[in-house]
Amino acid sequence: MNEIKIFVPATIANVSCGFDVLGLCLDTVGDEMTIRKTSQKGITISKIIGQDLPLDPTKNVAGVAALALLEKVDIDYGFDIEILKNIKLGSGIGSSAASAAGAVFGINEILGKPFSLEALIPFAMAGEKLASGTAHADNVAPALLGGFTLVRSYQPLDVIKIHTPKELYATVIHPQIEIKTRDARSVVKKQISLETAVKQLGNLGGLISGLYTENYELISNSLHDELVEPYRSILIPEFETIKKASSENGALGSGISGSGPSIFALSKGIENAKKVALGMKEVYRNTGIDFDIHVSKINELGIKVLAFK
Ligand code: ADP
Repeated sequence: MNEIKIFVPATIANVSCGFDVLGLCLDTVGDEMTIRKTSQKGITISKIIGQDLPLDPTKNVAGVAALALLEKVDIDYGFDIEILKNIKLGSGIGSSAASAAGAVFGINEILGKPFSLEALIPFAMAGEKLASGTAHADNVAPALLGGFTLVRSYQPLDVIKIHTPKELYATVIHPQIEIKTRDARSVVKKQISLETAVKQLGNLGGLISGLYTENYELISNSLHDELVEPYRSILIPEFETIKKASSENGALGSGISGSGPSIFALSKGIENAKKVALGMKEVYRNTGIDFDIHVSKINELGIKVLAFK
């Protein structure tokens, strides 16, 4: 294989009660990337369409992730990367993660898959470090593995793929205001009470159990965030109104996607997810803020190969 074209999905990190550990993979929104072998060693990024991003591989998460992988293989050629960037920067649906995950996935395919998908996660995390200052895995893991993922531990890295209920859909609204990941992190309290920790643990356990048993009522009861949402939501216009509208339209629950400003809701069935989208649209219609809305099944496969030669 000399060239591969892939679809790299957007992702939702945290999923309410899973701050910094849970993530899920979307299906209807994502980037396209083309990766091809070059006779020259190293990484080049020749084209980025859709967003203004550096072509210098050391300043682009795709390049940094790819270079981290190349350090571990002994080859006398290199790779060029092209990105069609549909996921808006700083949207909170894993824009940087998609580029990092896509780069290492594509190169690994061309190399004949020397690494498992799990083994690609640390390379993609190196890319994420460039974007947010920390090498987090809660977006790159679901992009690479698909479905829901849980980062059980960072030292050593242990990522678990969680069962996805068949009828689970996500609705995401992206208000086009900018919240930098660094700023979103700075409003989060560094210390929490034991009472808060206990509530969060109960909900995270409940959500994981609900996902495995496809118990939508349990999923709904568990989608609460005690750690971050009370502080971060202040940065997002109409957050509470969107939450209320989502629940009135039958969503199982809703919360901040990653570090925001996107807000997600989970629903049982596509019809419900579409109804939630209409409710969200109604809330944002008169705010004067531009927004995108996505309705998506949870993508169990992760990155998809579109073509290769
Ligand atoms: P998201 O939460 O949607 O992943 P982040 O704010 O974490 O967005 O990351 C976006 C930041 O990463 C931007 O500041 C952007 O300049 C930087 N970046 C570098 N390379 C890329 C890339 N290939 N794709 C997206 N963002 C990139």
